[in-house]
Amino acid sequence: MPELVIVGGGFAGLWSAAAAANVRGAGDLRITLVAPDDDMVLRPRLHRLDPGWSRVPLKRFLDPIDVGHLRARVTGIDTATRQIHLDDRSIAYDRLVLAAGSHLVRAEIPGAEHLFDIDTVDGAARLADHLRGLQTFTAVVIGSGFTGLEIATELADRGQVVLIERAATVAPDLGPGPRPVIEAALTELGIDVRLDATVASVHADGVTLADGRTVTAQVVIWTAGMQASPLTAHIPAERDALGRLKVDSRLRAHHDVFAAGDVAAAPADLDHHTIQSCQFATPMGKAAGHNAAADLLGLPLVDFAPDPYVTCLDLGAAGAVFTTGWHREVQLTGSQGKDLKNTILDVIHPPLDDAHEILRQAARQSNGVSG
Ligand SMILES: Cc1cc2nc3c(=O)[nH]c(=O)nc-3n(C[C@H](O)[C@H](O)[C@H](O)COP(=O)(O)OP(=O)(O)OC[C@H]3O[C@@H](n4cnc5c(N)ncnc54)[C@H](O)[C@@H]3O)c2cc1C
Repeated sequence: MPELVIVGGGFAGLWSAAAAANVRGAGDLRITLVAPDDDMVLRPRLHRLDPGWSRVPLKRFLDPIDVGHLRARVTGIDTATRQIHLDDRSIAYDRLVLAAGSHLVRAEIPGAEHLFDIDTVDGAARLADHLRGLQTFTAVVIGSGFTGLEIATELADRGQVVLIERAATVAPDLGPGPRPVIEAALTELGIDVRLDATVASVHADGVTLADGRTVTAQVVIWTAGMQASPLTAHIPAERDALGRLKVDSRLRAHHDVFAAGDVAAAPADLDHHTIQSCQFATPMGKAAGHNAAADLLGLPLVDFAPDPYVTCLDLGAAGAVFTTGWHREVQLTGSQGKDLKNTILDVIHPPLDDAHEILRQAARQSNGVSG
């Protein structure tokens, strides 16, 4: 029987599996998802520091749609022999969907072992445990991108927060559209923002900046920089600065290999490529899974056609800011933005135990609501 193998059990991997299962009705096909853990992690929920709320049992998504889960970490991919390598053996594929996601780029500064992060469920759990043991605290958050802003504003309710940004403005990658709303939120929450500041070293009791100043803190959180899975280097195809494979409009990266989610850069519209986000990872997964299965069974492939780009940034007790378009025009702020953010954090949870509902959602390219 032809073998479709999906590497990764995040948004892209799960929705690849379900979309491929929809195509399987047209012919014989075995679908196997390879991921090292029993749970999918809803990373957009991690800043709320409730790690249990971020876990989704893979079994309850995959079993109903008859997709196998191989609990293993992929160490290599050989596209010439069409095999993936695991720690103890290799398995063959006829078509591969690479959906192994991304990870936070490690800080290369002295004392980096003192840093916390919210990149993984274990990282968020470690931070939550550490904070539980403190009566009061000052937290240094390094980086004012999406993740830095969400964790800084979340913590501002519980302690003092110092937000350190290397650039001359907060949220340098989010552009000028939402910046006034973000700045007002940081002021409202009493967050101490240090711009043009670089952390030179980290200690058990805080950080030293490049200009020699120190900030005393009981917790230091690193949020700066994401990189695609190193497995992308095993595919003989062009990659971008984030290590993502450049895929075509059908999400094909190389002959028998499709790629989706944070490992892939796909055309989102005529002028833009996808960014690493679950709002793109989900429809990319659906298109890649459909196309890998259809390619194997000799059926027509579909073009990846995502919903228009939006963002919804949590701002803790100051609400949230929802923007539309690549210029990020502000549409909702405060409690209205927060209501939408909470809705998004609900709807990103995949359906469980219900094959009909899983396959129905897999057939729908639109996210409904995304952020
Ligand atoms: C704190 C935080 C907040 C975020 N907030 C938002 C938000 O508000 N909105 C938004 O759109 N996006 C947000 N994102 C980004 C979003 O979470 C990612 O873009 C999304 O998770 C990408 O999905 P993915 O399936 O490509 O990868 P991932 O979710 O990273 O999943 C990758 C999967 O691959 C598996 N894997 C990795 N390596 C291997 C290997 N070698 N072998 C086998 N399996 C492997 C992993 O175990 C995992 O199952 C946030 C991210 C973080 C960290």
